Amino acid sequence: MMFDANELTAGDSLEAELCIVGAGAAGISIALKLADTGRNVLLLESGGMEPEKATQDLYGGTVTDERLHSPPDRYRQRRFGGTTTIWGGRCMPFDAIDFERREFMPHSGWPIGRDAIDPYYPEANRLCEAGDFAYTAEEAFDRPLLPMIDGFESPNFSTNQLERFSCPTDFGARYQHRLRAAKNIRVLLHANVTKLQLSEAGTRVESATVKTLTGRHFAVRASQFVLATGGLEVARLLLASRDIQSNGIGNRHDVVGRYYMCHLAGTVGALSVTGPLGSVHNGYDISDEGVYCRRRIALRQTAQKSLGVGNFIARLHHPRITEPAHRNAILSLLFLAKFLIPYEYGKRLHGEEKASAAAWLKHIRNVAAGPFDAAAFGWHMLKDRKFAERKFPSIIIKSKANLFSLDFHAEQQPNPQSRITLTQALDPLGLPRLNVDWRYTAVDVDTVTRSIALLSQDIERSRIGTFDYDPQTLEFEMTRYGAYGGHHLGTARMGTDERSSVVDGDCRVHGVDNLFIAGSAVFPTSSQANPTLTVVALALRLAAHLHAQRQRQR
Ligand SMILES: Cc1cc2nc3c(=O)[nH]c(=O)nc-3n(C[C@H](O)[C@H](O)[C@H](O)COP(=O)(O)OP(=O)(O)OC[C@H]3O[C@@H](n4cnc5c(N)ncnc54)[C@H](O)[C@@H]3O)c2cc1C
Repeated sequence: MMFDANELTAGDSLEAELCIVGAGAAGISIALKLADTGRNVLLLESGGMEPEKATQDLYGGTVTDERLHSPPDRYRQRRFGGTTTIWGGRCMPFDAIDFERREFMPHSGWPIGRDAIDPYYPEANRLCEAGDFAYTAEEAFDRPLLPMIDGFESPNFSTNQLERFSCPTDFGARYQHRLRAAKNIRVLLHANVTKLQLSEAGTRVESATVKTLTGRHFAVRASQFVLATGGLEVARLLLASRDIQSNGIGNRHDVVGRYYMCHLAGTVGALSVTGPLGSVHNGYDISDEGVYCRRRIALRQTAQKSLGVGNFIARLHHPRITEPAHRNAILSLLFLAKFLIPYEYGKRLHGEEKASAAAWLKHIRNVAAGPFDAAAFGWHMLKDRKFAERKFPSIIIKSKANLFSLDFHAEQQPNPQSRITLTQALDPLGLPRLNVDWRYTAVDVDTVTRSIALLSQDIERSRIGTFDYDPQTLEFEMTRYGAYGGHHLGTARMGTDERSSVVDGDCRVHGVDNLFIAGSAVFPTSSQANPTLTVVALALRLAAHLHAQRQRQR
């Protein structure tokens, strides 16, 4: 059943066995897992079925350094389906090494290993509609794929790992019918949780305070609560619930909001492959189930350990589109079409600096010089992306000169100084707005610098061509567009010691018996991997845990 908080009578109180706050990837996955189990589940969602400006504005806040991080109402969506309404759909699991405590990665180490999540990855993959849980070329394809780059052999980097792409599935649109049909699930829209009320002893959540933007307010009582409001909003709600614990819930040791990570990403250098044009295969392969898959250059776990750096991957990429010197009609068309591309995608494509009139003219000339290429690309984008149910995931340009740049995505070190805090400013519901102070460290610069140096060396050694880049510019490139948007990690991290973590290995807030966190807030480290597949797998694991716990109590 789905209903609207604006239809409730003011002062009403709702009861449930399990109350989930937030209907994004995490919250919806938990509800689906518990559908038809007979448990009385209430899913509270701030937004409605469509974007609404006033609701989205509740995400507004400040950032300490605007060059390093986007405003907090960007790169997340406050509506049913959450940020999956705009995500890119790139899926891959975390690697085993990501869970390990590594001497060279300060504050690393999960209290669980990958084996604890493995049983849930295949189901998570299905919910993300990314096909089989098969993440190497050999597992996913029963035919051998052509090498990514003919002749590239490296003891340090693999080229057979895959990223697989979701449709990208909007969890709200895709699963609303299943949620409506489940007899034991009620979804309440326009229900903003503004506070969790603890018992006097501070060991249980008694109720959640819910408000609507139309002025209604009521309490929800439940035996168990799950916060699934996304990596930034989890910290905000814990910090703002301070009636009983003056620092906020789970925050006796001032850990909530700290260790905030995104990923390090950038596009660098010029890889010139000397072989013939057909010697590079850097595009998508389509699996038997019709899923777009793409290989990546991944720093092996042994190499991470011997170099003493974080996890790192790179993809072959097109030249930067803002620079008309690429003389590519398609890239220039993308530049000229910048007004059609949403902020979240345009930021890295176009940058934020203003292009000169001369640069605009050069882009127009590039398009005019290759009208057929530009028209064919426009048609491909309409047919295979805009109007396709399963969208072509990204821009792949066949280089006519075997010339590429490297697009990297790397692990960020967990750092207690990188943090989310509350400000004095209040939103219209009376909740303090947040401030984001994202920081990076020398370890982060080292991960990127040393991985790229090793890759460059291995490219030369295997005699496939040359990779030219300026090591001095790497720090600038990895922060050119600031923190990688949309991956908000680590603000309520998992661990065994409450002096350095917020939740335990079951995602339960230390010291609070019935409060659990779902989502990337609990990640103690970030991996190289995009987070959502692991968010969903952890959510399914949490659902199984909550169900088993309830069964035992009966
Ligand atoms: C442009 C973009 C591209 C991305 N691409 C990828 C990708 O390719 N691969 C990948 O793995 N990840 C990607 N991501 C990240 C992905 O979207 C998130 O990891 C995922 O949505 C997180 O799920 P979640 O349920 O934790 O949070 P969300 O999806 O953000 O859901 C949180 C929900 O909580 C609700 N909520 C918030 N506060 C309250 C409150 N107080 N009361 C009630 N409800 C509340 C919100 O309305 C929302 O519905 C991308 C993100 C962006 C922005």
